[in-house]
Amino acid sequence: MALVVQKYGGTSVGSIERIRNVARRVAKTYDEGNQVVVVLSAMSGETNRLVGLAHEISEFPAEREYDVLVSSGEQVSIALLAMCLSDMGYRAKSFLGWQFPIRTDNSHARARIAEIPDAKIREELQEGGIVVVAGFQGVDTNDNVTTLGRGGSDTSAVAVAAALKADVCEIYTDVDGVYTTDPRIVPEASKIERISYEEMLEMASLGAKVLQIRSVEFAKKFGVVIHVRSSFDDQTGTLVMKEDDEMETVMVSGVTYNKDEAKVNVKGVPDQPGIAAKLFTPLSEANITVDMIIQNPSKDGITDMTFTVPHTDYKKAMGIIEEAAKTINAEEIVGDENIAKVSIVGVGMRSHSGVAAQMFQALSAEGINIQMISTSEIKVSCVIDVKYTELAVRVLHDAFGLAKSDVVQEG
Ligand code: ASP
Ligand code: MG
Repeated sequence: MALVVQKYGGTSVGSIERIRNVARRVAKTYDEGNQVVVVLSAMSGETNRLVGLAHEISEFPAEREYDVLVSSGEQVSIALLAMCLSDMGYRAKSFLGWQFPIRTDNSHARARIAEIPDAKIREELQEGGIVVVAGFQGVDTNDNVTTLGRGGSDTSAVAVAAALKADVCEIYTDVDGVYTTDPRIVPEASKIERISYEEMLEMASLGAKVLQIRSVEFAKKFGVVIHVRSSFDDQTGTLVMKEDDEMETVMVSGVTYNKDEAKVNVKGVPDQPGIAAKLFTPLSEANITVDMIIQNPSKDGITDMTFTVPHTDYKKAMGIIEEAAKTINAEEIVGDENIAKVSIVGVGMRSHSGVAAQMFQALSAEGINIQMISTSEIKVSCVIDVKYTELAVRVLHDAFGLAKSDVVQEG
């Protein structure tokens, strides 16, 4: 008998018919002799609707009440699923975050899970019950309802799996796994069978939207094996797990892109100690996360600094930098919102050389200019003009032989 945690996302519970479909899957897993804990997201579109309501009534919704509101979508989906399972003759009970309780810190709208006591869940399972848990929500030490940030039910599921030392955490979604790149851009993209936590983290933070980043961090920390799969068929999806030797034989595992950033270029900065601090401290005080930073070598004591910020913070960042620029006597600030970041990711980069060069060649062969570059041990990212995004993704996917047919030939 295995202990299985299954998480179903919004589209998988998007209608009554789909909830019935989920109930059948859960029942099947249970009938096969497993203990089953289900974690649900709200019905698709519901959380967006609730967020919309909050902003209709208030320009800056009170954080505590925002969480009370937006967490309500999951209350509906878990009750509906438990009802359906009961009708089918199963002992099923739904639970809200506070009922275990799923303890979090007190940062509303982006709370972190601190602990999940497993006593109540185990008791239910022992009695032969199916436990249905509301994802995305928890409760802080003062018993205020909290939420974990958009997409947070992935993290709820992994945390529940970690707390119960579950055998597997299945994340059911509307795609059947993690792909080598976005299949909407490259139809030949192939499903990755196994991917390491590190690669998945890079892919998620670089634009792949399959799993919430925090859920992968959690899984890595507690060694939870995640199986990303589709709720609409029975195929095996992608396993997200600890790296092994075989994974390193693949040079590049995936190509990602991200159009959510903008570039700020501060020109004509006198090259003196403290300039970077003067530019970036006010940005961090305003909670703006800076991603890539490049400072050019100075010429005649003058340098220039370029960095990227999230699109949503672009205007705010420009305002802050215009102020900061005065204190360091910078000449000019140029912003550019029309950029994209394309990246290649793979643990194989640790043991293969020349991967970055191959990427640059592939881009240059198409006449795509690289504006900024950043690397880590297992990824290379390039900032390019946004209008070349799709082309860049296609040529990189091609250059590293990631298409289905290529994979078959090599295998
Ligand atoms: N319902 C929440 C959201 O839409 C949590 C989730 O779907 O994971 O963000
Ligand atoms: Mg989701």
